[in-house]
Amino acid sequence: MSPNIPFNKPFIVGRELYYISQAVIEGHLSGDGKFSKLCQNWLETRLNTPKALLTHSCTAALEIAAILCDIKPGDEIIMPSFTFVSTANAFVLRGGVPVFVDIRSDTLNLDENLVSRAITSRTKVIVPVHYAGVPCDMGKLSKIASENGLLIVEDAAQGLLSQYKGKSLGTIGHLGCLSFHETKNIISGEGGAILINDEKLIERAEIIREKGTNREKFFRGDVDKYTWVDIGSSYLPSELIGAFLFAQLENSEKITLARTRSFQLYHELLKPLASTGKIRIPPIDDFPTSNGHIFYIITSSLDERTRLLDHLRKSGINGVFHYVPLHSSPAGQKFGRPNGSLRVTEEISERLIRLPLFYEITSEMIESVVKEIESFYN
Ligand SMILES: *Cc1c(COP(=O)(O)O)cnc(C)c1O
Repeated sequence: MSPNIPFNKPFIVGRELYYISQAVIEGHLSGDGKFSKLCQNWLETRLNTPKALLTHSCTAALEIAAILCDIKPGDEIIMPSFTFVSTANAFVLRGGVPVFVDIRSDTLNLDENLVSRAITSRTKVIVPVHYAGVPCDMGKLSKIASENGLLIVEDAAQGLLSQYKGKSLGTIGHLGCLSFHETKNIISGEGGAILINDEKLIERAEIIREKGTNREKFFRGDVDKYTWVDIGSSYLPSELIGAFLFAQLENSEKITLARTRSFQLYHELLKPLASTGKIRIPPIDDFPTSNGHIFYIITSSLDERTRLLDHLRKSGINGVFHYVPLHSSPAGQKFGRPNGSLRVTEEISERLIRLPLFYEITSEMIESVVKEIESFYN
């Protein structure tokens, strides 16, 4: 019998439905009500940042970030090509040009040693993407940014509750963007947040998120009129999202622990196969500062990956692959450009498989996934 193990499964851990009904009963369903504020306070306190604003997605948070960075047509933004489209799209919407730099073959993160040579007089921002919740080398990247007068926007969509040298991911650059999409660790279906770590950017961030109005200042009583003052859009989520999310945040330690335990079990069970050199698995040195967001294996070729995914699917196991490198995608070719060779990006994107990993995955499920991988290789 096939086990039928999905790749991902949304879940409830605590008071999600109770808080949603409370929001309805209290009669405040638009944004920035009690639960949204509770989430924002939680993020500010737990992650240690002066300002967190909920958004309806990480994509929205990245778009706010691009406006805050004052991206003008032709400005260049250094980022990996091995990432989700929103990392680039947010800047392209402002006329920016993504400059794609290769990743490191160990962490699959932006290779900090290749960043300096990609800088030109048009470069404005570096976007480190913390792949799988594993931190980029923020020490080196921050140094490069400050020496060249660049801003750092962290794409921490996968990085909630991971740390780099004691600092939470998303709080190290000028701005950080989080995702609560149902495939991430902490979820609200769709959802995100922008962390404004540079206090000079807070007031404008509030305006951009509120359709370009000074509504937030008006509510605080700082101004007596509420009016249109800047560009912006509607980037805030409904209270229903905030209510669901707050229940998840209350249980964030439990969720992260379950996730890192599953990661560690995969690691332990696949180690013997990895030591034969047939597959590669993630380095585990980053624990306990990482959040167990993704467990991947790297096969030796595209053809082998296709056959393994097929083998797993026939056994009821849904593995997935990503990303189609942005520099080779139709829009990436039109709007961006590669800097130097992207050999590691190209190799990894053809050979990586993400294994099923979600809050409620059991040890038995992980054992069956590993058994099927082993049977494929034997
Ligand atoms: C998931 C993800 C996003 C987009 O998040 P949404 O909340 O779905 O908009 C952006 N960047 C990375 C690296 C992601 O993994």
